[in-house]
Amino acid sequence: MAALNATANGGMGGGKTRIGCEIDFDADGKQVSWLKLPFSVHRSAYGHIAIPIACIKNGKGPTLLAMSGNHGDEYEGQIATTKLIRDLDPKDIKGRVIVLPAANFPAAMAGMRTSPIDQGNLNRTFPGDPDGTPTWMISHFIETELVSRADVILDLHSGGSSLLYIPSALVAISKDKKRTERLIALAEAFGAPVGYVNAGGGDRTSTGAAERAGKLRLGTELGGAGMVGIDAKKFAEDGVRRVMEHMGIAPKSKLTTNKPKTRMMDVGGDDYYCFAPDAGLFEPYADLGAMVKKGQVAGVVQFVDNPLREPVPAYFGRDGMVLCKRVPGRVERGDCLFHLATDRD
Ligand code: CA
Repeated sequence: MAALNATANGGMGGGKTRIGCEIDFDADGKQVSWLKLPFSVHRSAYGHIAIPIACIKNGKGPTLLAMSGNHGDEYEGQIATTKLIRDLDPKDIKGRVIVLPAANFPAAMAGMRTSPIDQGNLNRTFPGDPDGTPTWMISHFIETELVSRADVILDLHSGGSSLLYIPSALVAISKDKKRTERLIALAEAFGAPVGYVNAGGGDRTSTGAAERAGKLRLGTELGGAGMVGIDAKKFAEDGVRRVMEHMGIAPKSKLTTNKPKTRMMDVGGDDYYCFAPDAGLFEPYADLGAMVKKGQVAGVVQFVDNPLREPVPAYFGRDGMVLCKRVPGRVERGDCLFHLATDRD
């Protein structure tokens, strides 16, 4: 793996992509195709990784990039974008929707957060590297070829295998107040039960890619637990449509006019997060949606291998609502057990 990754740390975002793309992004109509990521390996000397992509366009108008499978084990978005590709008729829109349903394709096919090929976590590899391993090549392609063409980047995440969320839409706060307002309007337009504002995931994420290009990025945390939640999937499907309606790509429908209310919240720094204080079996004392207090015991780590050992408590670091919780019972020291959110103003 060391040799494979030898070029992956360049990450300068320079150079042209080596990923082939047969889509003409300026053409009207619906094009569904596969990106060709050159991948010469023992079982396939001249082969490529075929990554599905679609462009649905009708005349002039804004561009939405709707992507999912950034983390391969986050499924609700992948279902919504897959259905969108089949269902969206170019006649029904004004503008362009670019859809990348399985962004880190090898990870999505494996049902894993990271790629089984290079262990890459796509959302920690931006701006990528055209000469890197597949995950770095993909993030470089997304940043240089797709984010550059979009007005809004909708990156559909869920909690993945280890976390479960109250379905949420999220945006990163900006120093530019007007930009923050536009982002919050976008989060509200999505129509999830919770919308939240955080500091952003850093420069290696799709948020970083959008900020470098001056584009708006809306993320989601739709559910998780490595499953497809029925409600979470509905929020994904409806949310994508509502964002299209908010942008003026699609006419306003009942989905927007009868939109459920979104509770706008903040997710701040370290005190919002609760981590396992020891390795063992975690016994949680709080569930999603619980209102908790600073210093309250969040749960205890039990030691099944040594029943006489006193359990070790984990504490909440501030007042707030439980927005996210860990799924697997076994924990190691440092695993995220919960994170909180607080009402905005
Ligand atoms: Ca994720």
